[in-house]
Amino acid sequence: MSLNRREFLQALAIASAGGMSLQSNFANAQTTAQKFYDLPKFGNVHFLHFTDCHAQLLPIYFREPNVNLGIGAQEGKTPHLVGEYFLKANGIKPGTRDAHAFTYLDYVAAAQNYGKVGGFAHMATLIKQIKASRPGALLLDGGDTWQGSGTSLWTNGQDMVDAALLLGVDVMTPHWEMTLGEKRVMEIVNGDFKGKVSFVAQNIKTADFGDSVFNPYVMKVQNGIQVAVIGQAFPYTPIANPRYFTPDWTFGIQEENLQKTINEVKAKGAKVVVLLSHNGMDVDLKMASRVTGLDAIMGGHTHDGVPIPVKVKNSGGVTLVTNAGSNTKFLGVLDFDVKGGKAVDFRYKLFPIFSNMIPADPAMNKLIQKIRAPYEAKLNEKLATTEGLLYRRGNFNGSFDQLILDALMAQKNAEIAFSPGFRWGTSLLPGQAITRENLLDQTAITYPYTTVTNMNGEMIKTILEDVADNLFNPDPYYQQGGDMVRVGGLQYTIDPAETAGKRITDMRLNGKAIEPNKTYKVAGWAPVSEEAKNAGGEAIWDVIERHLRDVKVVKAVQLNEPIIKGVKNNPGMVALKS
Ligand SMILES: [Zn+2]
Repeated sequence: MSLNRREFLQALAIASAGGMSLQSNFANAQTTAQKFYDLPKFGNVHFLHFTDCHAQLLPIYFREPNVNLGIGAQEGKTPHLVGEYFLKANGIKPGTRDAHAFTYLDYVAAAQNYGKVGGFAHMATLIKQIKASRPGALLLDGGDTWQGSGTSLWTNGQDMVDAALLLGVDVMTPHWEMTLGEKRVMEIVNGDFKGKVSFVAQNIKTADFGDSVFNPYVMKVQNGIQVAVIGQAFPYTPIANPRYFTPDWTFGIQEENLQKTINEVKAKGAKVVVLLSHNGMDVDLKMASRVTGLDAIMGGHTHDGVPIPVKVKNSGGVTLVTNAGSNTKFLGVLDFDVKGGKAVDFRYKLFPIFSNMIPADPAMNKLIQKIRAPYEAKLNEKLATTEGLLYRRGNFNGSFDQLILDALMAQKNAEIAFSPGFRWGTSLLPGQAITRENLLDQTAITYPYTTVTNMNGEMIKTILEDVADNLFNPDPYYQQGGDMVRVGGLQYTIDPAETAGKRITDMRLNGKAIEPNKTYKVAGWAPVSEEAKNAGGEAIWDVIERHLRDVKVVKAVQLNEPIIKGVKNNPGMVALKS
């Protein structure tokens, strides 16, 4: 399907008439959809960007966080703004579509009103339309594409590889892709992607000789203008995920090598240089202040939907930093006007993808149906129903994580449970069935083993301190971009602004202080060690499935969250009334 702008706008109108519930008349719906997705062409160099789709092929719900704290120098700055603070900083009117897309405000009512977001078929239509007015536009995939769903797990990422090819991805950089293992990654890069998708990473080297494993960058010509896209894979891959998936490769930020690479592409004639990054937003912002010659960093990993690029000054000029959210909820469009051999102006738009406003692309729809067909019954099997909203995103806990913790403690007969601070995972509205697909959207990883460990109080504190430092270290280069480990059973107090080892205090279990030398039974999942893999604990989805079948109806869960010090006026957190 290739539509010109007029045809696209007409198609939108048909979609909106069919899908919108609040707009009472057709003309209104038509105008809304047309206005919302019309983006006049600007400039002569164009980049389209999505990131962290986490293998979500179909439209979903995804609630943005009410806790996304910035500490120290990052306090109150993008992306550490939530709710009303976010709206104000970005000039978004409360109660609008955009307010719903970018914040958690009035989430359930707004989600019921505006419907699901994202989906590859809807994104495909939007991409085709934007490309039609922007010849040569490049489609960038920021990574975390091959992981996050049942079908991606069962097909070893093949579903997402096929979908990315059909979508017309030009350039990609990885993170969770690596959890399929080196061999599988190479098979795709040198097979399916060969001559089609440039898989780039300047910061992945062989462990033996330090050679580049992938091309560090790709150069393309748009409207007669040379442009370069450099890849920046997630620097902490072998720490945040099991090392055994990539034993022969090294990662890291590699800032010096990045500067060398930028200089190299410029020497080769690149007039626009973009870093396709999976650093996480805070790391991108610091990097932009230290490296020169980048026109933009189009980033991902921390799942921040950032509608206005941050202009970061450095000794060479200004670098724009964007971040395009997650779960196919957003598509970023960056237009540059290049004159006299350099970018002199730009426009940026981060489109929320409202699935019922954009018609599904028929070819993509067909592919998705084909991919899902063998698994449809398995995916759709209903395990329980939820009475409350289930979501994950947020620095300290989410209701779906609480459900995982409750299930772990109940099924493993443990007094304490840990669940990783993953940022992927879709949301479910009150009254929805919890299907196996929904469960896998929260748990589909290649190291799903559950663990039951006897840990003393000191060890528990060390773990909490370590994770807190990965999240709140004042130097972004030490931040790994996950959220805080979720804990069940255990209460604690955290002071994010404290130094490493001093953030966690007053750990309690059932009101009694945790004793450093006493042993506690702790259940967890997603261990990164090889020993844990060899021990082969039961897969997390089996544990939770059993729990869901036991309870049948999940009541509104009570979030176990720490007491957080020093955040009273922090615009990165709004406490919810329980
Ligand atoms: Zn990531």
